[in-house]
Amino acid sequence: MLAALPILTQTRDFIARRHRMLIGDQWLDAASGNTMSIRNPATGEVLGEVPAAAKEDVELAVQAARQAFDDSPWSRMRPRERQNLLWRLADLMERDARQLAELECLNNGKSAAVAQAMDVQLAIDFLRYMAGWATKVEGLTVEPSLPLMPDGQFHAYVRREAVGVVGAIVAWNFPLLLACWKLGPALATGCSVVLKPADETPLSALKLAELVLEAGYPAGVFNVVTGTGLQAGTALTAHPGVDKLTFTGSTEVGKQIGRAAMDNMTRVTLELGGKSPTIVLADADLQQAAAGAAQAIFFNQGQVCCAGSRLYVHRKHFDNVVADIAGIANGMKLGNGLDPSVDMGPLISARQQERVTGYIDLGRQLGATVACGGESFGPGYFVKPTVIVDVDQKHRLVQEEIFGPVLVAMPFDDLDEAVRLANDNPYGLGASIWSNDLSAVHRLIPRIKSGSVWVNCHSALDPCLPFGGYKLSGVGREMGAAAIEHYTELKSVLISL
Ligand code: NAD
Repeated sequence: MLAALPILTQTRDFIARRHRMLIGDQWLDAASGNTMSIRNPATGEVLGEVPAAAKEDVELAVQAARQAFDDSPWSRMRPRERQNLLWRLADLMERDARQLAELECLNNGKSAAVAQAMDVQLAIDFLRYMAGWATKVEGLTVEPSLPLMPDGQFHAYVRREAVGVVGAIVAWNFPLLLACWKLGPALATGCSVVLKPADETPLSALKLAELVLEAGYPAGVFNVVTGTGLQAGTALTAHPGVDKLTFTGSTEVGKQIGRAAMDNMTRVTLELGGKSPTIVLADADLQQAAAGAAQAIFFNQGQVCCAGSRLYVHRKHFDNVVADIAGIANGMKLGNGLDPSVDMGPLISARQQERVTGYIDLGRQLGATVACGGESFGPGYFVKPTVIVDVDQKHRLVQEEIFGPVLVAMPFDDLDEAVRLANDNPYGLGASIWSNDLSAVHRLIPRIKSGSVWVNCHSALDPCLPFGGYKLSGVGREMGAAAIEHYTELKSVLISL
């Protein structure tokens, strides 16, 4: 099967090999010997087996990470050396960018061309951005007053120290990029990491582990345990030797991880689900807005945490904008992501395909109108890009995250109504406003309850901008200086002279 695919020989060889997990500097099977199958979502075929880690494997990985953090060359390494290692890792990823992109394509279904230009490039850019932070982690000095010790002299300062062993658990929609969002600040600040990739998409994490070793990181700084959320994920979450948990995934699992983290007072960052609004104001450039709204929901098959999955358009343009988006959707070519002419790949799994078509069917049952798409097909797990109108704001289609290429669209009459509709949702990850009316845009921005607001663009992420959610979309921020804060602890020092 692999022989017929238009992929690099290195990718073919990588996929065909027996996969093992990186723990310390050893490539290991699960202690139980158990494995789990991974699939190509474009065909449904099994790509191979990876170890199914359980508690004892997580134990080994945390021990390796602990030792690297507490007592290894890593713990004594200077910021400049950490910076250089991150640059080296980014360079190696650049060298192997095509292979990484093909692994993302085969294991996730996304377009290889898009994965190379977006997922892999953004991951490389992010690691380089974080390399810069390695030499810029600062504490501060302060002048204490201490009224009960009037004759004393003091030197007081605050150190910012690496938090320690980081347990990172990520979703399948951007396997490499999400892993690097955790790895970058952890390695810049001097933490060690145990990564558990998503059950469905471990391949790029295993390739990344290879590159981390090749870059010259000491043993145990980066460990990868492949396995299910229920076994490996829960073991990592509950482990008292983990100092910080960083999670990207669903809100439901995020809540469980947050609760488990509190049992050990483990520091925790949660990047969770979304149901982000795209708001098209009356003055917007309608062609630009329709193209942007289509991209906001259909990119990555709609499997984007901040996808613009709710569309609110000023009533006077509603029909036109919806027709334009439906036209774009109908013109999209669906197929295998290895074909560069394909606009949209499959969803990640049969389960996800059923979930998404379940929501579309629910919409039909409740009287909504499917303006385009609505069908699924195989082999592989395809769902056509879909636009649904005649929905009520309280409807589950408008309130819940579908995580597929399904847009629900509604009209509004004035700015107050647009704000009310945009905020009437339990999530708060992102929002976009399409308008050139500076005054209206700036009045809207503070009123939108979400961690990011984009104007005349959507899901535009940059390493310098913190990313994260209000409300059920999470706790904490990734990227920017905020990420450094989340991977460090403060230590106050007071010296009586
Ligand atoms: P998921 O929550 O089912 O799984 C995410 C990860 O958690 C996987 O590695 C899984 O194995 C693990 N896991 C599952 N149950 C666990 C448990 N009980 N304990 C510990 N780990 C467990 O999510 P998913 O379906 O893989 O991903 C889709 C979700 O991720 C969507 O809700 C999406 O919005 C969200 N997401 C958020 C962001 C963000 O930055 N906010 C980015 C990407 C995806």
